[in-house]
Amino acid sequence: MIQQNINRIKEELGETTLVAVSKFRSLEELVDLYDTGQRIFAENRVQELLAKQDQLPKDIEWHLIGHLQTNKVKMIVGRVSLIHSVDSLKLLREIQKQSAKRDIVTKVLLQIHVAQESTKHGFAPNELVDLLADNAFDTFTHVQLCGVMSMATLTQDTNQIEEEFLKTAETFNKIKRLIPNSEHFSEVSMGMSGDYLIAKKLGATMVRIGSKIFEQV
Ligand SMILES: *Cc1c(COP(=O)(O)O)cnc(C)c1O
Repeated sequence: MIQQNINRIKEELGETTLVAVSKFRSLEELVDLYDTGQRIFAENRVQELLAKQDQLPKDIEWHLIGHLQTNKVKMIVGRVSLIHSVDSLKLLREIQKQSAKRDIVTKVLLQIHVAQESTKHGFAPNELVDLLADNAFDTFTHVQLCGVMSMATLTQDTNQIEEEFLKTAETFNKIKRLIPNSEHFSEVSMGMSGDYLIAKKLGATMVRIGSKIFEQV
């Protein structure tokens, strides 16, 4: 079933990168996913990511997609290939500090808050543009800003989801014009099982899909 789901999704996605969300799934399910050839796995919790990583093949690229607490940064730096969920300057500073200590560069996305739900994390779009105008990101020698991430409101209202993804794409373009080393700033991570086709249409370069991979559709 996982193989069929993956085949169908990959065909729909074309060039867009599939980030397979493996949170809450068992090791057995993750091995099945691995056997389809999928190599980008994403978790939303640090401990769960590290535990699974230890038990699975080493050529899996792990992404962190959930809210990251500052005190857990030192556990995760060097273990993930991309952090999607950088939602504050304080967190970015800690990633810089821990990466500098290990002499590595950590790739991150800036999470933008576009949804109506206040439970979702992220920078306000204008806040990011202001920070860039203040050159707030210039000191991050050990962090590579690779793009933006967002989550749309959980709703059936397609127009609203479209508006939120458009806002994400628009913010990405604004930042790209302002940011130093903008050649690395190229990813737009948006879209989940319920809305990835809308996200793709509106410029997602990466979609994060869980349920549609692991569950019968
Ligand atoms: C769980 C999760 C997803 C995937 O959700 P599905 O609806 O299962 O595809 C994507 N992004 C984030 C940040 C998540 O926490």
